[in-house]
Amino acid sequence: MSDLTCQLLVLGAGPGGYVAAIRAGQLGVDTVIVDPQPPGGTCLNVGCVPSKALIHAADEFWKVREAASGDHLGISVTGTHLDLAKTVAWKDAMVAGLNRGVGGLLRSAGARLVTGSGRFLDGKTVAVTTEDGERRIAADTIVIATGSAPVELPRLPYGGNILSSTDALALTEVPDHLAVVGGGYIGLELGTAFAKLGSRVTIVEAEPTILPMYDAVLTRPVLRAMEVLGIRVITSALAAEYHDRQLVMRSPTGEAEQVTADKVLVTVGRRPYTDDLGLTELALPMDGPFIRVDDRCATAMTGVYAIGDVTGEPMLAHRAMAQGEMVAEIVAGHRLSWDRRAIPAITFTDPEVVSVGLSPAQAEKTGHTVVGQFPLRANARAMTLEFTDGFVRVVARADDHLILGISAVGRNVSELSSAFSLTIENGLRLEDVAGAIHAHPTQSEAFVEACFDALGRSLHN
Ligand code: FAD
Ligand code: NAD
Repeated sequence: MSDLTCQLLVLGAGPGGYVAAIRAGQLGVDTVIVDPQPPGGTCLNVGCVPSKALIHAADEFWKVREAASGDHLGISVTGTHLDLAKTVAWKDAMVAGLNRGVGGLLRSAGARLVTGSGRFLDGKTVAVTTEDGERRIAADTIVIATGSAPVELPRLPYGGNILSSTDALALTEVPDHLAVVGGGYIGLELGTAFAKLGSRVTIVEAEPTILPMYDAVLTRPVLRAMEVLGIRVITSALAAEYHDRQLVMRSPTGEAEQVTADKVLVTVGRRPYTDDLGLTELALPMDGPFIRVDDRCATAMTGVYAIGDVTGEPMLAHRAMAQGEMVAEIVAGHRLSWDRRAIPAITFTDPEVVSVGLSPAQAEKTGHTVVGQFPLRANARAMTLEFTDGFVRVVARADDHLILGISAVGRNVSELSSAFSLTIENGLRLEDVAGAIHAHPTQSEAFVEACFDALGRSLHN
C-alpha cells in the first residue's frame, strides 16, 4: 500500500539530493524528494555556508581589531565590540533565505518536497515519518542522498562543553579558551575563525602534521599564519578526556599533557549517515561504512542509486552535486557515467589552500614530471592584499606537458580553483595556460608564472 507514487524518489535534500531532484524535474521525471530538515542539507544548514559566513564575520572583526591596535594602513579605530548572537542571527537569516531559494527551485522544476524521514520497506517502497504520521511512497527509482554526520569520540561525547561543528556554528558567546580536536578541514577553518573572534585556541591533531591530506610544503604558510594569530598547535596527540576545564591529551608514547578549555570542539571527520534507513532490509553491499556504487552511482540493487557523502571520499558538496546531476540524467534515460578528472578541494583557512588533481609526489609515481612554482611575494596583487606567504604550483608530465595537478596557498586563492579545475578537466598543457593572457594585477598571474617556471622561462621571479 502506498499513498504517493512517483518515478523518482530522492532521500535527502542536501547538495546531492536537491540537485538530483531539480535536474530530474527539469527533465520531466515525476520526482519526490524527502528530508526532515529544511532543504539544503548539511552544506547549507550547518556546513559550507554557515561556516564561511562565520569565517567572513571573523575576518571583518579581526580587521577592525587590527586597526584598533595600531595605525594599520593609516586606518585607526577606537572601541571594538562583537555581539556574536547578532552575527549568528545574520548567518541564520542568510541560511533561511537559501532554504527558501532551494525550495523554490525544487517547486519550479516540478519536484515535490515532503518533510519527513524515509526508511526503506523494500527496493521500491519507502515509509516516510512526517509530522502528520507515516506516508508510503512507491517509486520506480530511488536515490539515497542522506549525507554524513560528525564522528563522535567515545570519551568526548557531544553535549555540554563538548561541541560538534553544528554546535560551534550556533554559539552566541565567544569562548575564552577553545580546544579543537582534529586539525583537518573543519578544525582549522573554525579554529582560525574563533581565534580571530578572540578565543585562545589550541588545536590537537593525532597525526604529525595538520591537514595531513596535503603535502607539508602547502600547509606551512597556514601554520605560520596560525602562529601569528596565537593559535597553539599540538600534533601527534590524541585527545583522551575532558574534566574541570582541562582537556587531557596523550602522545603516542603515552605521555599526558593538558590544556585549559572552556569548550572543546571535536572535528575528527564525518561518517556516512545511514541510521534508521532500513538498509539491512536491502542488504546492499558496502565499501566499509559507505554504500558501494559503480561509475553511474548505481548500487547493487537495480533501481537504487546513492550519491554524495554516503558514497565515500571526498566528502565535498560539489562532488555530491555533480553526482546528483549525473544520476538525474541517467534516470531520464541518458547514457552517462562518472568521468570527472578534477574535484577541487579547498581549505578556507587564512591563507586558503587549494588543490586540484595530483600532488607532485603523486604525479611522479605516474611517470617523469616537471614542477613549476611561483611565490606570491613576487605577485603585486598579493602585496596589495598584505599577504605574500604563499605560492601557486603546477606539476605536469615531462614529455607532453599535460598538467596533472595544481595547488596554491594564499589569501583568497579559493577563487583560482575554477581556473585550476578547467585546466585539468580539459586536459590543458603548460603551453596552453602560458599562452592565455591573465589580467594584471591578479593572483591568477601566479598561475601562468608557475607554468612559465615549469617550462624553464620564468618572467617575474
Ligand atoms: P548532506 O548535505 O549531508 O545532506 C543529507 C540530507 O539527508 C540531510 O539534509 C539530512 O537531513 C537528510 N536525511 C538523512 N537521513 C534521511 C532520511 N532517512 N530520509 C530523508 N532525508 C534524510 N563541503 C564543501 O565542498 N565545501 C565546504 O566549504 C564545506 N564546508 C563544510 C563545513 C562544515 C562545518 C561541514 C560539517 C561540512 C562541510 N562540507 C563542505 C561538506 C559538505 O557539507 C558535504 O560534503 C555535503 O553537504 C554532502 O552533501 P550530501 O547531499 O551528500 O549530504
Ligand atoms: P577531516 O578528515 O578533514 O579532519 C579530521 C582530523 O582529525 C584529521 O586530521 C585526523 O587526523 C584528526 N583526528 C582524528 N581522530 C583524532 C583524535 N582522536 N585526536 C586528534 N585528532 C584526531 O575531518 P573534519 O575536519 O571533521 O571534516 C569532515 C569532512 O567535511 C572533511 O573530510 C571534508 O570532506 C568536509 N569538509 C570540507 C570543507 C571544505 O571543503 N572546505 C570544510 C569542512 C568540512
